[in-house]
Amino acid sequence: MTRTLLVVGHGMVGHRLVERLRVLDGARTWRIVILAEEHHPAYDRVSLSSYLDGKSRSDLTLAGVDFLNDPRVELLLGCSVVSVDRSARTVSTDRGDRISYDALVMATGSRPFVPPVPGRDLPGCFVYRTFDDLDALRAAARPGRAGVVVGGGLLGLEAANALRLLGMHPHVVETAPHLMPAQLDAGAANVLHRHVTALGLRVHCATATASIEAGADGTVRTVRLSDGTVLDADLAVFAAGVRPRDELADAMGLVRGERGGVVVDEFCRTADERVWAIGDCAAVQGRLYGLVAPGYRMADSVAHQLTGQHAEPFDGADTSTTLKLLGVRIAVFGVPVSDGEPMVEVAFAEGSDRYAKVLLSPDSGHLVGGVLAGDTGSWAAVRSFIGHQPPADLEQLLLP
Ligand SMILES: Cc1cc2nc3c(=O)[nH]c(=O)nc-3n(C[C@H](O)[C@H](O)[C@H](O)COP(=O)(O)OP(=O)(O)OC[C@H]3O[C@@H](n4cnc5c(N)ncnc54)[C@H](O)[C@@H]3O)c2cc1C
Repeated sequence: MTRTLLVVGHGMVGHRLVERLRVLDGARTWRIVILAEEHHPAYDRVSLSSYLDGKSRSDLTLAGVDFLNDPRVELLLGCSVVSVDRSARTVSTDRGDRISYDALVMATGSRPFVPPVPGRDLPGCFVYRTFDDLDALRAAARPGRAGVVVGGGLLGLEAANALRLLGMHPHVVETAPHLMPAQLDAGAANVLHRHVTALGLRVHCATATASIEAGADGTVRTVRLSDGTVLDADLAVFAAGVRPRDELADAMGLVRGERGGVVVDEFCRTADERVWAIGDCAAVQGRLYGLVAPGYRMADSVAHQLTGQHAEPFDGADTSTTLKLLGVRIAVFGVPVSDGEPMVEVAFAEGSDRYAKVLLSPDSGHLVGGVLAGDTGSWAAVRSFIGHQPPADLEQLLLP
């Protein structure tokens, strides 16, 4: 007998779930209905910035022809789920439809966090999450003029680079004392800071966006910072973090995590045996990830469960990564920044272009994590020492 799986959200993780299920469900026991708020099938959101750098929507689309033509899959674009009745096992959509399910997977992702800054709703204020957001930004960009990016993390720097590609002069405002405070320490952030300012970004750290003000035409004209600086700007982009899209949870009677997200166990199960949550919207054992690789592992686990196969529990994610951000190589591994635990820090710098720091456990001397900036060639080698004593000539390993 065919059962109906309803997937809420066709982002990167919802798509991964369906792709895995199509492979694993050889007996074709599932009919899959995907309800997608966006008007475009799932795309590579991680590479979204390349949409302003020559890539088209179809270049970034994840759903291939075989997926779109699969008779088992029904994809309803531009269709949001507005409520779920768990006892009747139905969802209601903004089109007024009611659809029944045997299993429901919430894959509703995240939304950009927009801090409560006066003026944040003015025309000329943008967020940076979807194709539509970037189309709006492209249409509003005025080459030669300035734009302000609120947030100096990874996403903020991507948005600033996008403004640069659109011919604008970006300012970046970050409340922390340095760029990318979640991943980098001050030394690594300095390497990044020097490089991005040489590219023309104007960086304002340790200050907040106090207000955004309109000119006579009613659109953004100035951005006022809490240190008194007034920036002349034609637009503002909020890239100050994300929040899980868990708005359906309360009315469904599902528990939300302390920092939001639908609370699920290590198999991504909610308290209702027919309902799962995966990806950015899931708080796995209370913890949010906001990254695609952990989301894919959650999707794989649920696809196995739905087909009655052995499923791996989701037991946390290694957030080690290497990035090339505006031409600067950055790598983080293990625990890159001390989160309050006492640690021994060993840092090396070569001029202002290369920097490396590792954290060691004060008791065992074992490597806990670290960060490299400017040159990341030793990333794989040094990472292999996590949980072990690093070699005596650490400097040679880190900055060969
Ligand atoms: C510019 C940018 C760069 C990034 N770079 C990286 C990176 O380098 N590495 C990394 O790991 N991650 C990165 N991320 C984060 C990554 O994109 C997310 O972790 C990933 O997209 C999460 O996938 P998801 O399917 O859970 O959510 P999403 O991709 O956000 O998809 C959720 C979908 O659900 C839809 N939806 C929400 N509510 C409803 C509803 N009620 N009904 C129907 N549909 C609904 C949404 O419209 C959306 O289309 C980046 C994100 C951005 C924006």
